[in-house]
Amino acid sequence: MSTYNDKSNTVTILGSGTSTGIPIIGCKCSVCLSENPKDKRLRTSILIETKSNKTILVDTTPDFRTQALRAKIDHVDGAIITHDHADHVHGIDDLRPLCFGPPPRNIPVFVEKNIKEHLEEKFPYIFKRESYFSKGRPILGGGIPKLDLHEVKINQEEKILEEDFIFFSLPHGHTNSLGFYHQGFAYIIDCESIPEEVLAKLEGLKVDLLIIDCVKSGTHNTHLTFEKARDYIERTKPKRAGLIHMGHGLGHEQLEKMCNEIKCSDVFPTYDEQKLKY
Ligand SMILES: [Zn+2]
Ligand SMILES: [Zn+2]
Repeated sequence: MSTYNDKSNTVTILGSGTSTGIPIIGCKCSVCLSENPKDKRLRTSILIETKSNKTILVDTTPDFRTQALRAKIDHVDGAIITHDHADHVHGIDDLRPLCFGPPPRNIPVFVEKNIKEHLEEKFPYIFKRESYFSKGRPILGGGIPKLDLHEVKINQEEKILEEDFIFFSLPHGHTNSLGFYHQGFAYIIDCESIPEEVLAKLEGLKVDLLIIDCVKSGTHNTHLTFEKARDYIERTKPKRAGLIHMGHGLGHEQLEKMCNEIKCSDVFPTYDEQKLKY
């Protein structure tokens, strides 16, 4: 870690791509065939390393093992799961090696209430161990990640892992996803809109760095588009705004040009392995 890190928090983009990842299997479009390393996007996830030395993972994608090895993650203090869609959660079993220790440890996982219930349904062997295993069906071997689910509060200040957060609930199709604010950084992921209450809060908080959903240009039922993300950036005026969760309709170079048209903030497409300070 650099000495600069003592005074700032760092976000690492573990993945910047939409649910398929980019390239998309079998696709021959120019973005999927692009040789620009910034067009190679694993599924969207970030890692936060705070100035108080806490390491917080946001989402466990199907690419999490690759992302963890690539970013040399050897420890996390906790994880935030934004929602239970496959592209954000299906790598959860790969948290297992981070529970090994020494000493062996449980990892706290922070979620919104309804997502807690969905995760318990999806992964009963992890989150419903008492009912999933029994005397007649004991746990054989040690192959289960030790994760403890914690429900977060919405729209109010809350300390998790001794860090100050405000969590937001964002509408995302049939579910909600969890956005948050931490010391000048706002993360707005998978949603079709940002509720007025959250926008007002972001305006008041004077955001230094915003990372925001941007799946494509045009229209989309469950995600922010470039145009919607742009409107929200123009409304909340963060100092810097990084776009994330991009599909293959948005090549890095093309998107950079589109971002340069936005004059209110420093706007850019994020890319895998990028590090941002705040
Ligand atoms: Zn997603
Ligand atoms: Zn989603």
